[in-house]
Amino acid sequence: MDCIFCKIANGEIPSKKIYEKDNFFSILDVNQKVEGHSLVISKKHFETLLDVPEDFASELLDCIKKTAIRIMKEKNADGFNVINNNFESSGQLVKHFHVHIFPRKKNDNANIFS
Ligand code: AMP
Ligand code: ZN
Repeated sequence: MDCIFCKIANGEIPSKKIYEKDNFFSILDVNQKVEGHSLVISKKHFETLLDVPEDFASELLDCIKKTAIRIMKEKNADGFNVINNNFESSGQLVKHFHVHIFPRKKNDNANIFS
């Protein structure tokens, strides 16, 4: 299967991990909508949130929290948005489960939905 996030997960495409657990890891998004825009990605190929097993939930939450804390600190941000697109109509382009983290600063006028 030709999946960019599977290739990153299995090391075929090298990446710099922000945080990593058994089933998830995080990296910077190649297209930085705001400085520090990151992605939490499942190591296994799940197409959407609906395919992620319930017992992965606590690890996913941990990976989101640790990535958000690290990236906020690094970018001097004081807030963040968590966004997860599911299926094409929502704007999902990469059909491998991932969660966006957008570090935010007061009055940054970020347009994270564009
Ligand atoms: P989505 O619209 O939720 O499917 O977003 C997919 C995201 O993956 C986009 O923000 C892309 O910029 C990002 N992306 C695509 N390829 C890569 C890559 N090789 N490394 C990091 N981020 C990527
Ligand atoms: Zn995949």
